[in-house]
Parts: sequence; C-alpha cells; structure tokens
Amino acid sequence: MLRLPRFKYLRPKTAREAARMASDLGPRAMFVAGGTDLFPKLKRRQFDVEALIGLDFLPRTVHRGEDETVVDAGLTLASASTDKHLRAVYAGYSEAAGLVSSPPLRNAGTIGGNLCVDTRCNYYDMTYEWRKAAGFCMKKDGDICLVAPSSSRCWAVSSSDIAPMAIALGALVTLAGPDADRELPVAALYRDDGIDYLAKQPFEVVTSLRLPAPDGTKTAYVKLRRRGSIDFPIAGAAVALRLDGSTVTSCRIVLSAVASHPLEAAEAGEFMIGKEVDEESVMAAAEIAAKPAKPLDNADLGHFWRKRMVRVVVEQALQRANDQ
Ligand SMILES: Cc1cc2nc3c(=O)[nH]c(=O)nc-3n(C[C@H](O)[C@H](O)[C@H](O)COP(=O)(O)OP(=O)(O)OC[C@H]3O[C@@H](n4cnc5c(N)ncnc54)[C@H](O)[C@@H]3O)c2cc1C
Ligand code: SF4
Repeated sequence: MLRLPRFKYLRPKTAREAARMASDLGPRAMFVAGGTDLFPKLKRRQFDVEALIGLDFLPRTVHRGEDETVVDAGLTLASASTDKHLRAVYAGYSEAAGLVSSPPLRNAGTIGGNLCVDTRCNYYDMTYEWRKAAGFCMKKDGDICLVAPSSSRCWAVSSSDIAPMAIALGALVTLAGPDADRELPVAALYRDDGIDYLAKQPFEVVTSLRLPAPDGTKTAYVKLRRRGSIDFPIAGAAVALRLDGSTVTSCRIVLSAVASHPLEAAEAGEFMIGKEVDEESVMAAAEIAAKPAKPLDNADLGHFWRKRMVRVVVEQALQRANDQ
C-alpha cells in the first residue's frame, strides 16, 4: 500500500491568508482543496512538500447574477454537475463537471482544483519505484524526456475536463494573492509547458470563476476515454456556439488532452462563422480542428488513433451544441 509522506497541515481562514502562507513557504508548500489529484500524487512521491495549505474554507456557491454567473472555486464537481442553473444555462459546463472521474471523486474534487490539476504522462504518473527503475524524467527528479528524448521540453498532457469548456465560454478566473486579487481569462491561466503549466504565481489561490452572460450560447462537451467512468480524457472537445436563426455568429472550440494546455482550435471556430451547422460544415470544421492537435505516446491508447478521434469528438460536440 502506498502511504502519504509526513507533512504539516496548515488551516488558513481566508484566501489572502492562504496566499501569504504560500508566499512565505515557497516550493516547500502546496495548496490542497479536495485532494483527489494531489493525494495520489503525494503517495507516488511526484511532489516533495513539507506543508499542505488547506483550502476547505473556500465558499461553494453558484451566484446567479442579472447576466453573468459566478462559481466559487470550492464548489464540488458533483454540485456543478447537478446545479439546476448551471445545467439550464451552461449545459456543456455542468456536463464536463459530471464527466470527471467517478462519483466519489466528484463529491470531493473542486472546480478550483480542476482548473489547476497537474498535467499527466504515462512515464510520470507512476510510483516512485517504477520511475526509478525506468529512469526519472525532467518533470520530476530527471533531466530528459522519456517520450521525446531529443526534446528540451516536457509534453505532459493537460487533462482537465472543465478548463476547455470554461475557455470556450470566455470565462474569467479570480486569483487571490498575498496583497490583492486579480482576474484573467481562463485561457491565460495556462502555458504550453508540461512542467510549468500554470501561468499564475504558485502562491495565488483560485477563488472563483466568472461565466459571462449566456446570450443564447449553446454549449456541449464530448469526452473520449477508455472506460465510461474514472478515466481521464484522452481527447475531448468543448464547443460554445451562438446562432442568428440557423447561421453561426460565433463559435469557440477548445480541445482537451491533446497538448500541455487546453488547446483552442481557433481556425475551426472561425470557419464555422457565417455557416449553417450541417454535416458538411461540421466535418470540415472537425478536420481543421484536428490539425493543431499533436497527441504523443504518453497517454492511454495509441496516439495516431487519438489524433483521428479528435475529429470525431469535435463533430459530436458541434452537433450536440447545435441540437440544444
Ligand atoms: C483516478 C482519478 C481519475 C481522475 N479523472 C479525472 C478526469 O476524468 N477529469 C479531470 O478533469 N480530472 C480527473 N482527475 C483529477 C481530479 O480528481 C480532478 O481534476 C479534481 O477536480 C481536482 O480537484 P481537487 O479539489 O481534488 O484538487 P486537489 O487534488 O486538491 O489539487 C489539485 C491541484 O490544484 C491545486 N489547487 C487546488 N485548488 C486550488 C485553488 N483553489 N487555487 C490554487 N491551486 C489549487 C493543488 O495545489 C494541486 O496542485 C482524476 C483523478 C484521479 C485520482
Ligand atoms: S512528457 Fe517527457 S518529461 Fe514530461 S512527464 Fe512525460 S516523460 Fe517526463
């Protein structure tokens, strides 16, 4: 049985206090919300920390405003997937939350933790003993990439189901620092880097997500994984579509699990504008969307097949969004 390492558990009462603690402790500490991703990784010694800063004080409410909706970062995935307002107005968003992992993990896992979840790789998400035997890689304890040995960077895969949908919706994320808060588009939260994948400061706490007024936007999220539950995505497509009659006026398509960050297929989204959502346009857009996706041999199932399946998930997501 894998055991957690010893660590100090700190219990701040506010996000500001948590950010100050994290700023003082630097890389010796990490935040923990639901712990659904962090605890297994600590057991596998993928992080070395002396202290965990608990975020269980974070509020867990969906604030329904006149136009926009604010979701507290402490909201569980289970609540996000069943909340009546989110289901009615941002269907793809609550759909994505309901497709994460399994019911027990959705009961504990949070929206904030999902946005910050670590990138994944078959050579990294392994026990310490496995990694030691195979040879460590540059994401932890080593200096080469085992997937692409001639590469100077890590290609671990962004595997959040919710981040692509939040980006497609044009959502903003609020971060609390030691002295002030700031807000940025969710898309700006990520870097194309398997190791340094978050563009926020390590001491900043995600406190909420602001979803803009829906204005008739139709959304859908389609996820591909080996099993119908538990598994991370191996390809996924989030679509946010707006129409005037039957003509598309705006379209954002964001892919999950095919790069080190949620990958917006901007060219495919632009292609849809001015068109009707029919078989021809959907197939052409899906073909364009699949081009920037470059899955490598570091996730479940073959990477050539995963690349081909990007087209399929985009087609399905476009059709599902249009059918709403
Ligand atoms: C078997 C298994 C299957 C899974 N399947 C999926 C899946 O299909 N899709 C998917 O998206 N995820 C999946 N996950 C990952 C995880 O369960 C979810 O992403 C979950 O939403 C993480 O939220 P959490 O609150 O538990 O985060 P934690 O585990 O507590 O934290 C995750 C990371 O985020 C940081 N963090 C947490 N909250 C904040 C915050 N508010 N501000 C700043 N940093 C923060 C932590 O420091 C840590 O680095 C799976 C995990 C497991 C173990
Ligand atoms: S992509 Fe390469 S460097 Fe990154 S975790 Fe995998 S093996 Fe390690």
